Amino acid sequence: MSLWLDESPPEPRPALDHDASADVVVIGAGVAGVATAYWLARAGARPLVLEARTIAEAASGRNAGFLLAGVAENFLVASRRYGEPNALRIWRFTRRNQELVRELVARHRIDCDLRWHGSAQIAGDDDEWAEMRASVERLTSEGVRARIVPEERTAIYEDDGELHPVRYVRGLAGAAEAAGATFHERTCVTAIDAGAVRTGRARVSAGAVVVCVNAYASHLLPLRIRPVRGQMLATAPLGRRVFARPAYAHRGYRYWRQREDGRILVGGWRDLAVDVEVGEEERTTEPIQSALETFLRGHAPDAAVTHRWAGIMGFSHDALPYAGRWRQGVFALGGFTGHGLAFATAASALVADLVRGGSPGEADLFATDRP
Ligand SMILES: Cc1cc2nc3c(=O)[nH]c(=O)nc-3n(C[C@H](O)[C@H](O)[C@H](O)COP(=O)(O)OP(=O)(O)OC[C@H]3O[C@@H](n4cnc5c(N)ncnc54)[C@H](O)[C@@H]3O)c2cc1C
Repeated sequence: MSLWLDESPPEPRPALDHDASADVVVIGAGVAGVATAYWLARAGARPLVLEARTIAEAASGRNAGFLLAGVAENFLVASRRYGEPNALRIWRFTRRNQELVRELVARHRIDCDLRWHGSAQIAGDDDEWAEMRASVERLTSEGVRARIVPEERTAIYEDDGELHPVRYVRGLAGAAEAAGATFHERTCVTAIDAGAVRTGRARVSAGAVVVCVNAYASHLLPLRIRPVRGQMLATAPLGRRVFARPAYAHRGYRYWRQREDGRILVGGWRDLAVDVEVGEEERTTEPIQSALETFLRGHAPDAAVTHRWAGIMGFSHDALPYAGRWRQGVFALGGFTGHGLAFATAASALVADLVRGGSPGEADLFATDRP
């Protein structure tokens, strides 16, 4: 079990065992589905959320809790891929996401250890180091608070944050309920029909459906999302500070942080086994776990490992999430490519706007049918 889930006693919601109807049905209660329900409820709808497991039990309860700006790659690589104007729009979108998280946590007094110590991006090789320096130079000219630490081949992004993901998502679920949303757990949607969804036991008619199942999308819609596994470990509290801020290295493949209570979390190293770390099987493997532990031992030989876990991410075809209309009355939000905390709070507001007939400015970036 993940450290986050282990620390967060379940707050069960009943399964849905009868037919129902709703303005909007949201499928999935990770950060994406919960935030979508929140924005819809705040706008006056009464969303019904159907979750196959429990709130935040999948990737949203198994991540590292980094709240970063931008995509997994550095800004230079993102500019090559998406074009610099769009890379800047994406950067600003994720900055807005950070500010929304800050606002929601404050407004609803969500106790999720939200901290803003910045993040450290560490170069894995000379090419990455050159790209990172160019990225910082370009972004600082746009007003981004970033700096280079040459002796550590590191870029510091001052505005990045970290949080307890389960407490954030469950806190937001409580706020969504207070605003009019209803959650059903242990309720798996098996099909989406015109104007309705079906579960094992019930049919729910809906004005609109928002699919927020991320890695599991292929069971419901032919979205271009593939399941990819990520693994982590966590230690008992250590009596000294080893890492000042969340850090990620080797193009985001390797990451670690130390919480305020002294626990160290290490994750990633998927680059050692990219062909194996795929699919929906939520299990740890010896090669990845021993790589995480080797890194840990290099920095904190005395830290006792207390938790090991795996989670399933949803990768899109171009590493950007899908947040848009799929077909009449059906919307999709997912494919976060390992960065759902960085996007989902803002992207769910965008989708909620689309559901209500709006035309949000960034919709073209995340359209489900983009090339
Ligand atoms: C090890 C690891 C580390 C990560 N670290 C970070 C990080 O530091 N920062 C960051 O930004 N991102 C990180 N991520 C990625 C992040 O966790 C995800 O992008 C994010 O949680 C996705 O949220 P989601 O709501 O789209 O999906 P999920 O949290 O996976 O939620 C989808 C939900 O849909 C439910 N569901 C599926 N099918 C059905 C169905 N048919 N009917 C009903 N319900 C269904 C599932 O049970 C699940 O609860 C990490 C991921 C992993 C695995």
